[in-house]
This record gives sequence, structure tokens and C-alpha cells, in this order.
Amino acid sequence: MNLHSSPDPLHFETRAIHVGQEPDSATGAVITPIYQTSTYAQRAVGEHLGYDYSRTDNPTRSALQECLASLESGRYGLAFASGMAAITTLLLYFKKGDHIVVADDVYGGTYRLFQRVFTAFGLEFSFVDMTNCEATRAAIRPNTRLVWIETPTNPLLKIIDVAEITALAHEHDILVGVDNTFATPYLQRPLESGADLVMHSTTKYLGGHSDVIGGAIVTSDDVLYERLKFLQNAAGAVPSPFDCWLVLRGLKTLALRMERHSENALHLAQWLEQHALVKRVMYPWLPSHPQHAVARRQMRAGGGMISFIASGGKAAAEKIAAATRLFVLAESLGGVESLIEVPAAMTHMSVANSPLQVDAGLVRLSVGVENVYDLMTDLDQAFESV
Ligand SMILES: *Cc1c(COP(=O)(O)O)cnc(C)c1O
Repeated sequence: MNLHSSPDPLHFETRAIHVGQEPDSATGAVITPIYQTSTYAQRAVGEHLGYDYSRTDNPTRSALQECLASLESGRYGLAFASGMAAITTLLLYFKKGDHIVVADDVYGGTYRLFQRVFTAFGLEFSFVDMTNCEATRAAIRPNTRLVWIETPTNPLLKIIDVAEITALAHEHDILVGVDNTFATPYLQRPLESGADLVMHSTTKYLGGHSDVIGGAIVTSDDVLYERLKFLQNAAGAVPSPFDCWLVLRGLKTLALRMERHSENALHLAQWLEQHALVKRVMYPWLPSHPQHAVARRQMRAGGGMISFIASGGKAAAEKIAAATRLFVLAESLGGVESLIEVPAAMTHMSVANSPLQVDAGLVRLSVGVENVYDLMTDLDQAFESV
């Protein structure tokens, strides 16, 4: 089976299962083996089968990278030990004095890495509400080298118009990177909207089972890829073969899972919107969402994340989060099981002093693929504890 020579491009679901994952040429194993090896025999000095050391390349990682690139409609994939390792490696591409414009409610760890680590190396960051194109334009400086988008944003689930911001950045020859962790390539593909690179925490939906930490970057830009590939090897934040294998296994069911995550979340968001103890629901597929029209254009469905503000503020939010039985009170997201958390006290502690003030009554749900009525019943009984 040679996927690259097929006359018709294969569909997403098929590529998730097959690209980079042809049966093993040595044994016929249907599933890509975990090549748990650090080094590779050479026939003569410098003469090897394409692999010499596993920090540089590993066959299980190569399979994952190829599949990720295909799913994001990119030419090159790079896998990392975590989402933060992927972003750190990307930042090594820049140099002292370079300026980066960042969406204002990015993942808390991203904010922390930018503000509390890389400013010390002379990188400059401006945080801006990218749902506002004019505010984004005003943040661009002569030394701006990158625009960093996350959409839907975390935890407010704002939707940034990737095509619009990319067009603006490209007028100034600025690279555009998109953290596509929340949407996944099944729901949106930023490279198709012109972005230069896509980043993932594969820990979340791509792995999908809350059992691995991983990250990735996909791009079609030869120069960017060559440099990032060099930096991946030079800095060395690579994932283990087993972790790559877990993400590959997760990818096979990504389409199925995203369909169910989105269906369940829409159902719950509609229900929450009617609930007496809920002040406001943030979910891109609700017509009440401020960027609903952009979401409809850019995404295939609303995804699995919902945020809402509980009427009773901090106390109510914390009571609800502690009272659910199915929804596990935990950080992270994107697994088959539903999670609940209070961002102001948990994932977004590190942005406490940022311009972004997360409402203390905000509750974030990662809606899993359980039966939606069981999830609703669980939330309903948790509201009774308030
Ligand atoms: C989790 C997450 C990250 C960081 O990824 P890790 O795998 O935890 O290092 C980055 N961006 C977003 C949107 C995330 O949810």
C-alpha cells in the first residue's frame, strides 16, 4: 500500500489510521513497533539505514511526525516531549530583541514561559485581544517576528480569525504560529488558512486518553522546518518511542472522538445556558458566543471545551467542582473522560498578575465521550450543592 501514489487524496479519518503506519517492513507487524533503542548499527563508518541516534531520529517518532503532518495539511512534523517543549524549541528560533505578539488569554504555561523565562533572554512580548484586528495591528512593531495565536482561547474560548490575523501579519512579513490544541486538525487546520506553523500539546485530544505528555509542531515552510529540526536535535526535548506510540494510537480514533466530544459539549452548553445558577456560558457553537460566525467559518464543530460563570462566584464555582462524581476535578483536558476545574484557582494561577483577569466564578469543563445524559445528571446534582 503506497499512500503517496494514490490518485485521490485520502480523507482525514483514513490518513489518521494509515499515514506513516504501513505494516512494518521487517516483520509485517500491522501496528508501528515501539523502536525502544537509543542507537543503531552502522555497516561501515557513517553508513546506516537512516537512523544513527534516537535524539536525532527514531522510527516510531518518524511515523508519528509523518501522520501529524498529514492531518494538519502540512509537509513536515516534529514531535516533542511536551507542548511546552515544542514552544520552547520554537522560541529558540528567535534572537534577542525580537518581538512576539501573543493572544491575551493563551494557555497559562505559555504565558509563564514567555513572561518569566524568555524575557530574560531578550525576547519581547505584547499580549493583545486578537479578536480585535485593529488592536493586533497596533501591537505590531518593526522588530515583530511572530504572531502567536491560540483559538479557541483558554479558558475564555474566544475565537480568533486565523485567516484575518494571518493576512495582517503577512503584510509585515511576520510568521504566524497557531496553538491548535483545543480544536485539533479534525475541527480546524490553520495551515490551510495561511498560518506558517501549527503547534500541539499532544497530551490533550491527539493522545486523547490522559496517559501521555507530548507536543508537536507542523509546518510546510522548508527553511523554518530545517531550523526547527536542527533545534529539536540540538536542544533535545524529544519524546520517548513509547510516548510516540501512545499518541499514534490516539490519532487513529481522533475523528470519532472529536465528533462525540463536540456533540456532547453542544448539548451540555445548551442545557447550561438555561440553568438558573449559570450567569454566562462560553461555547463557540452557541449563537450567543461573540465570535460565533467566525467559529462557524473556521471550525467544523464546537469542540469539547465549555467555560461558564457560576452565579454565586468563587464559592459556588468551587462547590460545583468539588461535588461532581463523573466529572473528575483535575487540570488538563482532551481525554475520553470528563474533567472539571476552576481556572482562577488551578490552571490559571500563573496568570494571576497578567492583564487577563480570569473571573473567580469561572468553571471550565473538558467534556468527555461518556453518555451525555449521565454527564448532565452529574452536573445537575453538583449544582444542588451550591
Ligand atoms: C496543555 C497545553 C499546552 C502545554 O502542553 P503540555 O503538553 O502540558 O506541555 C499548551 N497549549 C495549550 C492550549 C494546552 O492546553
